[in-house]
Amino acid sequence: MTRITIAKGDGIGPEIMDATLKILLAAGAKIEIDEIEVGEKVYLAGNTSGIAKESWDIIRKNKVFLKAPITTPQGGGYKSLNVTTRKFLGLYSNVRPCMSLHPFVKTKHPEMDMVIIRENEEDLYAGIEHQQTDEVVQCLKIISRPGCEKIVRYAFEYAKQYGRKKVTCFTKDNIMKQTDGLFHRVFDEIAKEYPEIENEHWIIDIGAAKMADTPEVFDVIVTLNLYGDVLSDVAAQIAGSVGLAGSANIGEECAMFEAIHGSAPRRAGQNLANPSGLLQGAIMMLNHIGETVAAEKIQNAWLKTIEDGTHTYDIFKENSSKQKVGTIEFADAVIANLGKQPSTLKKVSYVNSSALHLPKYRRKEPALKELQGVDIFVHWPGLNPDELAKTIKKLENEEIKLTMITNRGIKVWPEGFKETFCTDHWRCRFKPGSDSNITKNTIVNLMSLAVTNNIDVIKTENLYAFNGMAAYSLGQGQ
Ligand code: NAD
Repeated sequence: MTRITIAKGDGIGPEIMDATLKILLAAGAKIEIDEIEVGEKVYLAGNTSGIAKESWDIIRKNKVFLKAPITTPQGGGYKSLNVTTRKFLGLYSNVRPCMSLHPFVKTKHPEMDMVIIRENEEDLYAGIEHQQTDEVVQCLKIISRPGCEKIVRYAFEYAKQYGRKKVTCFTKDNIMKQTDGLFHRVFDEIAKEYPEIENEHWIIDIGAAKMADTPEVFDVIVTLNLYGDVLSDVAAQIAGSVGLAGSANIGEECAMFEAIHGSAPRRAGQNLANPSGLLQGAIMMLNHIGETVAAEKIQNAWLKTIEDGTHTYDIFKENSSKQKVGTIEFADAVIANLGKQPSTLKKVSYVNSSALHLPKYRRKEPALKELQGVDIFVHWPGLNPDELAKTIKKLENEEIKLTMITNRGIKVWPEGFKETFCTDHWRCRFKPGSDSNITKNTIVNLMSLAVTNNIDVIKTENLYAFNGMAAYSLGQGQ
């Protein structure tokens, strides 16, 4: 028996959870259940994270969590429970299979069968945002080598386990050479360890266009958090419906499984909702805990039910569906099909589908890190960069010189274009004068002089080289 934690959530959550659990138990899944409360009620009781401390204890003890969708109340101050859970529990990998069920569920892409594996903890979702000047706000995009290595390795191991042929990486490293560049480099490094699996890289824009047009050319896709978030909803929708897809959030110790859709409050309490998304999440959960026989039995029964034309309202079509059913009747139809196989749709075999055990990340030897300068970011309401340069040059000494000013990344001094639009947010780059080496003290002195000269520095960023390679972006146009 495996003890799992469940939360019935809000809106249609309780109905689809009841239906899912009924199917799991009917299939003989060896699970015991601890139920916790998360979501709207907990938020409105004054807990801004939507979950009580005692519930965390249960989740951490059981390590496996099946969660129905929740409603996040409107208005500020409420933290996304999903994002918090993923990060607290280190659930670095988000796995979303998106497969068409043609001809039983309408889709323009009958051959589509892919899995999106998305990094789940980093990127712009670190939620580190600041307003720095009257006109400019910033969100930090954090990408780490462990984050990249773990997710890319997960994608290749997943492909190997499920007999998939190709892993495609999506990034935008033609623009973000450091962050997306790291993800792409790590992908190339790790791909070499899996010569039997084809690998390729696409720039995300054209890759996304290709995916929306010809999804059948992709097999496993691995990508960064934000791109994966957007792409996986598109993929689920073009496969047939967001109501049919589940997702797994996998960490080294814990895992959470869910439907990809929300709590659909307008459909709640009417026995209308399709439980398939949560059921797909639950099937991944069963595989994760080694209940592969029950998982396979349920998935084949579910495929057969879809094939029989027993459909909830969201996928019901007059000509192709046979019977429009509610949540409860759909679950009962799946239960009645347990032990049966689909005849048109491909039946599944989950003999080798239990949890992946990846090697732990090992920190590398530190590189030789050399301070090569500093960017100081200044709030300045003027318009003419030459004037700003005159003021900023007051901070120079023989050790350190102003070499460039950019505005929103584009070089505006020296030799800027008068046509370039400028905000009140300026990056002033200082590099060592000839033959001088700088230290942190050089920067402290620079900052102190800036204060004396009433220059409004809103942040600084040190410029480093690692093993002799400059590791910061140039100014655009530099
Ligand atoms: P939604 O996914 O709840 O609904 C979008 C549309 O899809 C609606 O028309 C709905 O009726 C339909 N739909 C969704 N799931 C369905 C199902 N299982 N069966 C039949 N029809 C289904 O998205 P929304 O309306 O943008 O969000 C509603 C609430 O859900 C919001 O409070 C949002 O914050 C929350 N939400 C929660 C999660 C989560 O807990 N994982 C994810 C997304 C949204």
